[in-house]
Amino acid sequence: MEHFSYQRAFSIAEALELKQQHGDQALFLSGGTDVLLLIKKGLIHPRVLISLRGIGELRGISKVDGRVTIGSGTTLRTLEKSAVIADHFPALHDAVVNMASVQIRNVATLGGNIVNASPGADSAAPLLIYRAVVQIINRRGEERTVPLEHFFKGFKKIDLQDGELLKAFILDLPPAGAGSAYLKFMKRQAMDLAHVGVGVYLEIDKNNRCRKARIGLATVAPTPIRSQPAEEYLQGRVVDRDSLAAAADLAVGSISPIDDFRGRAWHKTEIVKTFVRRAGMLALKRIEKQEA
Ligand SMILES: Cc1cc2nc3c(=O)[nH]c(=O)nc-3n(C[C@H](O)[C@H](O)[C@H](O)COP(=O)(O)OP(=O)(O)OC[C@H]3O[C@@H](n4cnc5c(N)ncnc54)[C@H](O)[C@@H]3O)c2cc1C
Repeated sequence: MEHFSYQRAFSIAEALELKQQHGDQALFLSGGTDVLLLIKKGLIHPRVLISLRGIGELRGISKVDGRVTIGSGTTLRTLEKSAVIADHFPALHDAVVNMASVQIRNVATLGGNIVNASPGADSAAPLLIYRAVVQIINRRGEERTVPLEHFFKGFKKIDLQDGELLKAFILDLPPAGAGSAYLKFMKRQAMDLAHVGVGVYLEIDKNNRCRKARIGLATVAPTPIRSQPAEEYLQGRVVDRDSLAAAADLAVGSISPIDDFRGRAWHKTEIVKTFVRRAGMLALKRIEKQEA
């Protein structure tokens, strides 16, 4: 049985002050769905847990001047129920509705999912295709921002220093004519981590030519990644089943899957091929639906 003290912070400043006092012995706790599992398994041994749940400033979704800010402490359930997320960021919506269970989504947060830094975090590929920017704050109240793409530094490594806290995610609202989707391959249809996760974002003109494409991939590299060759291939081409299939073949060049408990590398590669095309077709269908 692990022993730790539990301290509640009611402001960002208080949370960072507590972290400064306890140093390496302390860990932030948002929903606790990753932290408590790791403690239970004996993989981490924090002496102090600093709960962020009492900090209102970290929660909620706001839409101002073409930008949406999602507080790091916003629960997956809040995202799932948000019309802003469903209408403008459908790939993120696809991801959260398929994560864990309602009970877990009621407490688990977007910030926790990203800071946990799993290559298979379901929110990562959608946030990558929306080019989310991470807002970070330190004890002196100084803020810095990092594109999510650069926030992931390596396997389980992120650009967050000791004494910093992830405050929010900032996303630009996609323009009209944009569509996106996220598909997750799981062995079971419920309560399973992604064996492969694929997000596709498309902007097309009236002739179906691609103005912008972004492809995010989870669980097939040490960090969640984008596939630049596949994105560049689509640029300027008519988006259809054939061009998406060719882009999917190129996406395979960006991945480095391994054999693990989630599946065999060759199988994950096949799923990437199929899911890039399928998620692209779904994104396309969503654009057509907007225009109908
Ligand atoms: C049964 C079960 C099913 C699951 N299914 C899925 C799934 O389908 N897909 C998936 O991606 N994940 C899944 N998870 C994992 C987990 O629920 C998510 O990663 C969740 O979003 C983590 O959020 P949390 O608030 O609970 O994080 P916590 O456990 O509170 O924290 C996770 C990490 O982030 C740090 N942290 C949290 N907030 C901040 C902050 N604001 N600033 C700095 N550091 C912070 C903590 O110190 C800790 O290191 C599942 C977990 C369980 C137990």
